[in-house]
Amino acid sequence: TQGLEKTKEGFFSKITKAVVGKSTIDDAVLDDLEDALITADVGVDTTLEIVNRIQKRVEKDKYLSTNELNGLLKDEIENILIDSPDNSHRDFHLSENKKPYILLVVGVNGVGKTTTIGKLAAKYKAAGNQVILGAADTFRAAAVDQLTIWSERVGVPIVKQDMGSDPASVAFDTVQSAVAKHADIAIIDTAGRLHNKAHLMEELSKIKRVIQKVIPEAPHDVLLVLDGSTGQNALEQAKQFVQTTDVRSLAITKLDGTAKGGVVLAIAHQLKIPVKYIGVGEKVEDLLIFDKHEFVDSLFS
Ligand code: GDP
Repeated sequence: TQGLEKTKEGFFSKITKAVVGKSTIDDAVLDDLEDALITADVGVDTTLEIVNRIQKRVEKDKYLSTNELNGLLKDEIENILIDSPDNSHRDFHLSENKKPYILLVVGVNGVGKTTTIGKLAAKYKAAGNQVILGAADTFRAAAVDQLTIWSERVGVPIVKQDMGSDPASVAFDTVQSAVAKHADIAIIDTAGRLHNKAHLMEELSKIKRVIQKVIPEAPHDVLLVLDGSTGQNALEQAKQFVQTTDVRSLAITKLDGTAKGGVVLAIAHQLKIPVKYIGVGEKVEDLLIFDKHEFVDSLFS
């Protein structure tokens, strides 16, 4: 996987240091491994889980070589990651009975939410879908402006209202417009002000209620965008959002230029929510479909 070089360097070099030259896996090696995982931002709880699982397997077979340990480690890390049960995001083809597909995007400002929406719009359009954007983050003028720039760049319509208008009203207009225009997918940007959780919770549930007036089974997905370069802070932010709304999938951005990609493991393990996308740069092609095998392979190869 392109773009994960920094994480790979940080992760793999630390792990290699922990196990290289050791003929058997004893407590000292496991301690070093624990340190290596924690400094790669895998987080304490997830690290302990991985180390415990390895310890159990080592107990069965005391004379593991370094190569075997690497294999074990890869296995255990893959076991911690979960695949999305809904695979439609893999080829950006939507099933007929879910049209228009309503995708609600949540996350705090600055994490790369707008960029992720722009990239997704481009990918869905390239796959032959008719896309509509909804600018329901009406709190910041900049958010609407940024999304408008993406809509022009990608060449898809955007539904917006004046700054400060009711986000639920924008969401409602977007879904109605998607139905009227026989669009395949509506991607709706929402505000992410976590300092006022009660208000955010109310706003998001109101958005859902009005969307469901048009399409009862919508939204089809609630995607939380997190900034992977903030490491464990991204995990804390995710926990807050999970308490606020029913987050169903994750996009983790800015994994290029950081050695903290281990946080992907922590987030997937702690929240049990599938990671659908990872962001490894600012361009459209820098949004990757998350695949746990590829991700783990790229950390170890
Ligand atoms: P928002 O406030 O959450 O909507 O954030 P934006 O989408 O405006 O992104 C904030 C900044 O992060 C912008 O400069 C983006 O170009 C940048 N950005 C977004 N995703 C990525 C990524 O995956 N990698 C890198 N390096 N930069 C990103």
